[in-house]
Amino acid sequence: MAEVHGTLRIAGIEPESFVDGPGIRMTIFVQGCPHHCPECHNPQTHDFKSGHNIDIAEILEMISENELLDGITFSGGEPFCHAAALLPLAREIRERGYHLTIYSGYTYEELLEKSKTEPAILELLAFANLLIDGRFIFAEKTLDVPFKGSLNQRLIDVQATLGKDRVVLWNPGEDYKDL
Ligand code: SF4
Repeated sequence: MAEVHGTLRIAGIEPESFVDGPGIRMTIFVQGCPHHCPECHNPQTHDFKSGHNIDIAEILEMISENELLDGITFSGGEPFCHAAALLPLAREIRERGYHLTIYSGYTYEELLEKSKTEPAILELLAFANLLIDGRFIFAEKTLDVPFKGSLNQRLIDVQATLGKDRVVLWNPGEDYKDL
């Protein structure tokens, strides 16, 4: 297996999560978020200077050690503010056959617009299977819908959406038929 170089600034890692996408996942919380959604549940992830650096090789080692993982989730913080740093990790995750979910406070349309000046954003998006997009809106907060913090957020099937002129929502299948 080729060695993957690079570092990432993170707030922390949840080695096994059942709430950040389908199946059993490792969730990586990047450090730094520009959105400042009122009542954000992860305010400690906002400051870009806080958190700590971790080698991507170390994250991949952690992934290798858990045979139960179905997928990996990038959360935060705002993953797309770390798009270039996340690229080698995302590439390796997909090459190893894992499902990749990415949370973003930006909407899908905002990400496409931003990618015109920051191409790494589109490159990162292209590795994702599922995008959960949009800011957390406290008035629309939900605890009833899996994977969403607030009802405005969409579960987007990224591979079905890229290149199309409309967003294709994720088809959750039998396991999550109440979504
Ligand atoms: S985008 Fe996420 S991490 Fe950033 S402020 Fe909003 S809820 Fe918090």
